[in-house]
Amino acid sequence: MELSNRQEQIIQIVKDNGPITGENIADRLDLTRATLRPDLAILTMAGFLDARPRVGYFFTGKTGSELFTEKLKKFKVSEYQSLPILVEENVSTYDAICTMFLEDVGTLFVIDNKTHLVGVLSRKDLLRASMGSQDLSSIPVHIIMTRMPNITICEEDDLLLDAAQKLIEKQIDALPVVNRTEDGLEVIGRLTKTNITKALVELARDQHL
Ligand code: ADP
Repeated sequence: MELSNRQEQIIQIVKDNGPITGENIADRLDLTRATLRPDLAILTMAGFLDARPRVGYFFTGKTGSELFTEKLKKFKVSEYQSLPILVEENVSTYDAICTMFLEDVGTLFVIDNKTHLVGVLSRKDLLRASMGSQDLSSIPVHIIMTRMPNITICEEDDLLLDAAQKLIEKQIDALPVVNRTEDGLEVIGRLTKTNITKALVELARDQHL
């Protein structure tokens, strides 16, 4: 987060004199309390300053990168997941390829007739199947998919960082976001490397870190 000169000055004043009232900070800068209000709000929201009623502002001692990390560690999968694209396990490999193109995704999740997760199809799984001379419309996807229980999953309440760690460890591009039910896993979302990249960019651009 880029701080303005005035915001830097405010931090310095609070560091040296805190706890200090908004009125007092304004006096030292020769400004009115009203002029200062947006800056104080930003610095408080960003976590640089804290304010206690009837005491005033004080410096939290946190650096920009500490605050960045603190915020990143709070992101949940639910805030960044995309919609899952599902195919039924008896669908042909040819149809799965069409679905992947039409839906513009890199990973499909495969479900059984009770809509429970049974497998994952990546671009490379489909490419590999296309390399042989078989008729793709006669090969059901359950033959070529990566299957349960070898599927790496996450849940809506998981931390985004933990999901990102799984993507790195398993060297995969996407995780199904699931709900555990009594008889299986229901797919409710899709978490990809793109979602995580978006979270990072959003965080870096957020002026109110
Ligand atoms: P690509 O193969 O197109 O590079 P991935 O790296 O995501 O895409 O997939 C690599 C392999 O891992 C594929 O065989 C795929 O079926 C499998 N895979 C992908 N996602 C998962 C997952 N969440 N759990 C288990 N296996 C997965």
